[in-house]
Amino acid sequence: MADAAHSYLDYNATAPLLPQAEAAVRESLGVFGNPSSVHGAGRRARALVEDAREQIAAHTGASTAEIVFTSGGTEANALALKGGHYAAMIVAGIEHASVLAAAPGAAVVGANAQGIVDLDALEDALKSAPRPALVAVMLANNETGVLQPLDAVIALAKTYGAFVHCDAVQALGKVPVDFTSGVDSMSLSAHKIGGLKGVGALIYRGDLDAQIAGGGQERRRRAGTENVAGIVGFGAAAREVPRLLADMPRIRALRDSLESKVRAAAPQARIYGEGTPRLANTSCFSLANVSSETQVMRLDLAGVSISAGSACSSGKIAPSHVLLAMGVNPAEAKTAVRVSLGWTTREADVARFIDAWQPLALNAAA
Ligand code: PLP
Repeated sequence: MADAAHSYLDYNATAPLLPQAEAAVRESLGVFGNPSSVHGAGRRARALVEDAREQIAAHTGASTAEIVFTSGGTEANALALKGGHYAAMIVAGIEHASVLAAAPGAAVVGANAQGIVDLDALEDALKSAPRPALVAVMLANNETGVLQPLDAVIALAKTYGAFVHCDAVQALGKVPVDFTSGVDSMSLSAHKIGGLKGVGALIYRGDLDAQIAGGGQERRRRAGTENVAGIVGFGAAAREVPRLLADMPRIRALRDSLESKVRAAAPQARIYGEGTPRLANTSCFSLANVSSETQVMRLDLAGVSISAGSACSSGKIAPSHVLLAMGVNPAEAKTAVRVSLGWTTREADVARFIDAWQPLALNAAA
């Protein structure tokens, strides 16, 4: 988004509201009924919720009965891990904090230097885990954008009778997402694809114990009156997924152009996951001797929004757990930033980023 003063390059933290989602949300605000009420007002709200569920099902390969609306990706991950029935959990060390926090005591599997989960270590963990185990491996990493070898993870998990949970929060709208690929559960979040914050979904096959109890909403898997406006916006954003995917080659060209300029300005910069399949919109790199915070602040002063690793850990000095899991040393990890592009990004945004970032790189080299 290049306006006179601002370039927003932090889509993995959150995306701007899509106009189609905004219009649908505004229209839904006139429908005030409780979707659980049997009268006409309630039925009108119910219809909006179910239309959105159908949109999300259609764009993820799920069936509508498998979709549980939640307050976002964090809750979807917590519900999958805490609400299922597993004898053990195995999680990738590069998972989002909401997965790691929902699986205390889980076996944690590392990643290689490219940011790909270590399949040999996963197999070792599966061999020694009580059955049935749950394996949690995300589709695309939020910090590096690195795509995980989900087919191989599923094949391994099935060999050992394990379930697979996949956090697809960052993948939806950026790469094809297919619930029929063999995973047992999947998390989604509306605000990463241009919907509102505070709404998401868990797609789940099998029995699930509600973690928020009370009413019988969402087929008794998640109590609480549904966030109708948020769900409507999520459905409208999901309808745009094919268009978002079609825009990825353009976004990839912008990202690649940004990275070639980063390399030209700072040959010492290290780009994580370079040369391995990654989301087209994401670039994560470090600039030796210049802290992430310094880079983020300098860019902000120049009107460019980027982040230091994941948004959830920005503001903290701690190095990214994702980079540490990839074997990056803590000092280097503290100099990493993430630039993430999206549908409003233009060449002018890349140029504004480079204009502001280059002096930092030149100073660091001097
Ligand atoms: N999982 C991943 C991979 C994410 O990137 C995020 C958001 O940063 C989440 C889960 C959490 O989603 P939400 O912000 O909807 O709780």
